[in-house]
Amino acid sequence: MSNVTFTMIKPDATGKLYTGAIIDRIIKNGFTIQAMKWTKLTKEQAGAFYAVHKERPFYGELVEFMSSGPIVAAILEKENAVADFRKLIGATNPAQADEGTIRKDFAASVGENAVHGSDSDENAAIESSFFFSQLERFL
Ligand code: UDP
Ligand code: MG
Repeated sequence: MSNVTFTMIKPDATGKLYTGAIIDRIIKNGFTIQAMKWTKLTKEQAGAFYAVHKERPFYGELVEFMSSGPIVAAILEKENAVADFRKLIGATNPAQADEGTIRKDFAASVGENAVHGSDSDENAAIESSFFFSQLERFL
């Protein structure tokens, strides 16, 4: 069990001005921020980040969407961070997300679902170093 996870606030949520509310929700649920940046992905960068989904039917749409506007990338720290954060964001499809979860409250659809959360400790480490150098991390 590791104590970090990686998140992005996706372009639908930044575009709807939900960034502050989502960060507030994350902090109030006990996560501390090790690193954070506001940026915009190129198609190439979005494609590389989501390379594990290359063969999935939604890959092209996902890459278009994730490069369509600004995102906030962050490394979050908390005991049991990966599992606790997946619980806080809720199901991939907001229609199936529990009450009180970030996706339930801020996401529009299964594609445009407001936030990313790592699915394992291994991917949390890979995704964190995709965006941040050691120098950019508050440890
Ligand atoms: N996605 C999509 N259509 C789908 C499933 C997923 O557009 O049918 C997008 C959605 O933005 C999701 C991302 O692809 O967050 C990655 O999918 P994954 O199954 O890893 O869901 P997550 O881990 O984000 O809940
Ligand atoms: Mg995933």
